[in-house]
Amino acid sequence: MPDRILSHSEMCLREGIPLRRGMNFRVRGGHSVLLMSVRPGAPYRDELSGDGTVLRYEGHDAPRPRTGGLDPKTVDQPLQTPNGQPTQNGLFFGAALAARAGDAPPERVRVYEKLRPGLWTDHGVFHLVDAAQEHDGTRHVFVFRLEAVQGEAEGAVPVPAHPGSRRVIPGGVKLAVWNRDGGGCAECGADEDLHFALLRPSAGATPENVRLLCTRHDPGEDDRSG
Ligand SMILES: [Zn+2]
Repeated sequence: MPDRILSHSEMCLREGIPLRRGMNFRVRGGHSVLLMSVRPGAPYRDELSGDGTVLRYEGHDAPRPRTGGLDPKTVDQPLQTPNGQPTQNGLFFGAALAARAGDAPPERVRVYEKLRPGLWTDHGVFHLVDAAQEHDGTRHVFVFRLEAVQGEAEGAVPVPAHPGSRRVIPGGVKLAVWNRDGGGCAECGADEDLHFALLRPSAGATPENVRLLCTRHDPGEDDRSG
C-alpha cells in the first residue's frame, strides 16, 4: 500500500536487496528503487511538486575518496566508473533518454522518502520520463524527472490531474501528521501496519486532511488488483 510507514529493514526485506544507496536500477523484480529525502541537511536537492506527483531527483556524487582527494560535492557527478562501467547515474540517464525518445517504455521506479532516521514512507510507483545534466554553479549534476502513476502494475498510467486521483502526500506533511498523531493510529493508537490516508480524497494533501491509520481502521484499496 502506498503511503505506509516502514523501517529501513522492512524496505530491504520488501525489495529483496540491502538498500545501501539512493539509486537502485532494476532491483529484483524488474523495477527500480529511489530513496529520497528533503529534510534539512539532506545531501541532495530532491523535490516533490504538483501535489507530490512530480519528482525532481538529483543524481549521486562520485564516491568519497578514502584519503585526501577532492570533496565529491565539488566534482561533476559521474556517468561512468573509472573502468568505464555505467554508474547508477548512467543507468538511469540512459533509460530516461530512451523513454523520452519513445524507444522504450518508462522505467518503473518505487520511491521511498526518509522522514527522519529510521522512519521511511512509500510514495508508490513513478515513471522515469526525462533527465538532464545541469550546472549547479559549482559542477555538473544529473537531474531526473519522474511522474507518479496510478497503481503499482506494469503499464500504469500517469495520475490524472483531477480531484480524487491519487495524490502523493509530501514527506513534510507526513512527518507533521506523524508527530501530531503520536506515531500511532488516530483511531486506536496501534503502532504497527500504519499508513497515511486522506480524509477527503478530493481535497489537498494538507496535514488537516491527512491521518495516520492502521490497516484495520483503513483497509485502503488493493493496489495489486489494478
Ligand atoms: Zn487503528
